[in-house]
Amino acid sequence: MQLAPDEFRAKLVSWLDTHDLSPGNDHSFDAQVAQLSRVRKALFDADWMRYGWPTEVGGLGGPAVLRAILGEEVATRFLAEPGIYSMIEVLAPTMISYARPELAAQMVPRLLDGTEQWCQGFSEPGSGSDLASLSTRAEQRGDTWVINGQKVWTSLAQYASRCVLLTRTAPGHAGITAFFVDMDTPGITVRPLRTMHDVDEFAEVYFDDVVVPADRMLGQPGDGWKLAMDLLPYERSTCFWHRIAYLLATLDGLAGKADEADDLDLGAAYLAVHTARCRSHITQRTLAATGKVGAETSIDKVLLSTAEQQLFDTYRDLVPGAIEWTDPVLRSEYLYSKAATIYGGTAEIQRNIIARRLLGLGKEQ
Ligand SMILES: Cc1cc2nc3c(=O)[nH]c(=O)nc-3n(C[C@H](O)[C@H](O)[C@H](O)COP(=O)(O)OP(=O)(O)OC[C@H]3O[C@@H](n4cnc5c(N)ncnc54)[C@H](O)[C@@H]3O)c2cc1C
Repeated sequence: MQLAPDEFRAKLVSWLDTHDLSPGNDHSFDAQVAQLSRVRKALFDADWMRYGWPTEVGGLGGPAVLRAILGEEVATRFLAEPGIYSMIEVLAPTMISYARPELAAQMVPRLLDGTEQWCQGFSEPGSGSDLASLSTRAEQRGDTWVINGQKVWTSLAQYASRCVLLTRTAPGHAGITAFFVDMDTPGITVRPLRTMHDVDEFAEVYFDDVVVPADRMLGQPGDGWKLAMDLLPYERSTCFWHRIAYLLATLDGLAGKADEADDLDLGAAYLAVHTARCRSHITQRTLAATGKVGAETSIDKVLLSTAEQQLFDTYRDLVPGAIEWTDPVLRSEYLYSKAATIYGGTAEIQRNIIARRLLGLGKEQ
């Protein structure tokens, strides 16, 4: 059954009002990942998670905006941590575009229905902003490829059953090749890394003679850079929309705790988040109309990360002691907001892109 966006939201809201998916009081990362699986399963079983995805991968079709609405409802009700919830918005479209159709049909439903977590193995020590310099090697041996190297900052790697992995098969941008790798393949070692907000969110991942069947290549040899660039529209549209919804809900919570004298600071934080939301709305409409967005989404990234940090800085100022002493969940969010100007491309890199590609202000040295 096809649903128009308004109808979809109305039915979804009424379903969510009568099905309690609230998380428990355990705020550990293990509990957050378990809650994520629980929420995805319940939403998939009730079909909500299937709207907006192609029927070939277990979806019910319809526009991607239905996924944005679902993510917005999940985020504003604090049902799942928005960062890890939104990973489906990057990984599933990548599989749909690049995996063999049979592989996508087999695997994508496992991600959507919460059976599995997946991770994104792009960054390496020394290859973060300069991703194209990555050096994890993949060498062809008959019907297989053998992978050696190291990834770092791989979110959810210790929970993941699969990894969308970028490797080097030849020099240059055209020598980057992507694979869909089972994380239980012999030769893979995952070492969780603790963040400053005290969470093992990401990990180092080592690959020692890891044998991957050739039919797990995503696209053709050399398609890896294009795949990485094609992630951008998803990361910068629906994912951002979910996060902004979550920030607005957090702001509402703050408004309830602050007194009238704080209106100016609160107003400034609202303005920042709403500006990011307006911008994100334009991006989603552009994506829906043209199927692609590009360098201009660096503006969205700067607006969102700046608004997120401003919001939590305001929280710290207006509710004294909450972050430092009384509210461990808020403390965690506050500290994590500092990562917003790093993950998904640092603030400096985004500003370089805006200056060079959008404003024509000079070239890379
Ligand atoms: C919470 C979190 C989750 C993450 N999850 C994942 C994941 O799941 N998968 C994954 O692959 N990666 C992930 N990352 C890694 C992320 O993509 C990288 O941290 C990011 O791309 C920056 O790379 P880097 O850390 O190597 O820093 P570097 O590239 O070494 O940058 C260091 C500093 O130098 C600056 N800099 C670098 N080059 C320039 C330049 N040309 N001009 C001006 N300034 C410059 C940067 O802005 C930065 O301030 C995650 C990171 C974080 C924080």
